[in-house]
Amino acid sequence: MTTPKAAAKFLARDGLVLFDNPDSFLICAFKRDTALCDPDSGATAPNQFACQLGCGNAVRTDSHAQAAREHADRLDAKAALVPQPLGDRLRLTANRFRGLADAHTVAAHTAPEGLT
Ligand code: SF4
Repeated sequence: MTTPKAAAKFLARDGLVLFDNPDSFLICAFKRDTALCDPDSGATAPNQFACQLGCGNAVRTDSHAQAAREHADRLDAKAALVPQPLGDRLRLTANRFRGLADAHTVAAHTAPEGLT
């Protein structure tokens, strides 16, 4: 676990700190200047509960992409059970998560031999 003091040190040295964010299906490579979750100017951590789809600080593994697809499938299943306006919103969100997973698949790189 990274303490705020340690995070501030890493931010000063490298300009980024990694935070696991399984609820958003990603690892956040937090860079304050490019964060879409609107962190305070001196923040040493992202506002993970305000994580925004499409943020350039997001890094996904194959497991994150698979979890995002499964989440999209659950949203589609819910969409079939609710009134159309809400269902349409759920399907839209599902398609965005599916799009992120597809983008990961297209851009994914295989780990070099010896690291797997
Ligand atoms: S929007 Fe999400 S990925 Fe981007 S900095 Fe904030 S928590 Fe990290």
